[in-house]
Amino acid sequence: MEVLQSKQDLRNWIRDRRGRERTLVPTMGALHRGHTSLIDLARETTPENDIVATIFVNPTQFGPNEDFDSYPRQLEDDLALCETHGASAVFTPAAGEMYEKDASISIHESALSHRLCGASRPGHFDGVCTVVAKLFLLTQPSTALFGEKDFQQLAVLRRLVRDLDFPIEIIPGPTVRDADGLAMSSRNAYLSEEERAHAPIIFAALSRVARGIAEGRLESPLEAVAELTREIESAPPARIDYLEIVDSITLEALTDFKNTTPRLLAAVFFGQTRLIDNVGLPALNA
Ligand code: AMP
Repeated sequence: MEVLQSKQDLRNWIRDRRGRERTLVPTMGALHRGHTSLIDLARETTPENDIVATIFVNPTQFGPNEDFDSYPRQLEDDLALCETHGASAVFTPAAGEMYEKDASISIHESALSHRLCGASRPGHFDGVCTVVAKLFLLTQPSTALFGEKDFQQLAVLRRLVRDLDFPIEIIPGPTVRDADGLAMSSRNAYLSEEERAHAPIIFAALSRVARGIAEGRLESPLEAVAELTREIESAPPARIDYLEIVDSITLEALTDFKNTTPRLLAAVFFGQTRLIDNVGLPALNA
């Protein structure tokens, strides 16, 4: 496995492996089974391709009061995991390598980004779109993998590919969870013991409410969100940022369930730590 730190090294490596296609797995490091499942899925879905994982804590997607400085960094462990899971190369540039000091162009997504996570993280998805577009241009993959755990990000990046004509197939990876259901996240490490003990309520509530909708017990999004709210508020340290039931493509809030493919999305603070999760439902007719 090659470890590439500069854009030039990456370009040289790509040139030397002329004729091979690439699958991209972008990450911010602090890798866990959620990330490595994407490398595994890359091997399964595109076995002919080189797999390029990237490890880059992208400053432009963090707000001024967010955890950019304290975000966990553990490059040696991450590289070992990438190698074990079969990455061909890891691109891990310094911030100064990725961005000129006076960089003045970025990508703005204007339909899907302002709500949900975008409402409490202004500018976040522009930072994500800009860095992912740069990674697409640098690595020129035919396929890129992103986790469903970050469902809004997945929808925004599908839009990026569609609207800017990147010739790249996006493959979503299912959310990987701890045994008690909590979605794996590098930020779970910030939770206190008490917060960690209550955090599985998010997935438990999303799953129960999704079942209630599928079985017809919960007849409207309003009713379903009310039940979600009650369930999550029953955990003392939980403070809801948003709970929404949206169309899984447009991310618009649903007003009824007829002929829809709903996605239940949650963002909940436990102390200072903001956790997100989501659960899908099959298409509902009439
Ligand atoms: P991050 O390092 O948090 O930017 O995540 C890098 C990629 O891993 C993104 O596509 C995430 O959606 C994905 N990812 C993060 N956590 C999980 C998880 N628990 N299950 C599946 N994919 C995940």
